Amino acid sequence: MKTLHCKIPCNLCNSRNFTHLFNINSTRNEKFQVVSCSSCGLKQVNPQPNITAVKPYYSDTYFLKRNERGYDNYYSESVRNEICRVYEKNLSDLNFWKHERGLKKKHKILHSLDLGCAAGYFVELIKKRHWQAEGIDLAKGPVLAARKRNLKIHLGDWFSKSSIRSGKYHLITLWASIEHMHNPYEVFKRSVKLLKADGHLIISTCCYNYLAKLQGKNWRFMNVPEHLYFFNQAQITKMAKKAGFRLISSVSYGSGLTKKKDASYLYKTAKFLADWLVKKLKQGDMMALHFQKIKS
Ligand SMILES: [Zn+2]
Repeated sequence: MKTLHCKIPCNLCNSRNFTHLFNINSTRNEKFQVVSCSSCGLKQVNPQPNITAVKPYYSDTYFLKRNERGYDNYYSESVRNEICRVYEKNLSDLNFWKHERGLKKKHKILHSLDLGCAAGYFVELIKKRHWQAEGIDLAKGPVLAARKRNLKIHLGDWFSKSSIRSGKYHLITLWASIEHMHNPYEVFKRSVKLLKADGHLIISTCCYNYLAKLQGKNWRFMNVPEHLYFFNQAQITKMAKKAGFRLISSVSYGSGLTKKKDASYLYKTAKFLADWLVKKLKQGDMMALHFQKIKS
């Protein structure tokens, strides 16, 4: 294995030494390098394209062709229903509703912020549960679509938004968005600031474990450079703890068999069994985690 010295240090442990895993071509035919940190093992794209270089990948067609999940059109009702079903499933598997009941007893108004909210499906879901819900995203198309449905959605970079106040939120969510961010550790640190003293953080992201290793560059979540980091559970938990969170619960899911429109009975059965098995063995290629801010 070739050892490399990269300019951008590992976001988890600051090491500059990496092992080369493979090169991969993007949908725009640009070549990127996926590496593994020699010290902590975090998989990442390095050298890393900057925000300007990544921007063309988030044009409107990105939301009309979400290949990694087999979506045809992000705005269709069936896709929205499926995304919301997964949110609800994750939150119930994480036992979040119990915490929500506790929060509702304690506080009159609950504030939530969804980072990387796209068309605001989660913002809408939690708003229906009587939260004062907000979302933020960099992609203009989905933000405008969300605003049409009367949702409070900020457009732009949340690091520079003065309307997003520190210490305001009871809940921050990052649904399949931390792996897109250039500096996930900063995201955790900033989330600590934005949350109230007993605030909650829910994250879902792809999980780099044996399914990913086995499939290498063919892994369904290896879409580069949209995805820049590929955590496993230990690595993401370590990063969250370093920033000031404790892990409350986690769930592993996803066998890699994606939902298909006209799937045969055999495929559906295989998917059901494989999904059940990886969840049981905690070997899914997706994970959802519930963290709470450590009181300061
Ligand atoms: Zn590292």
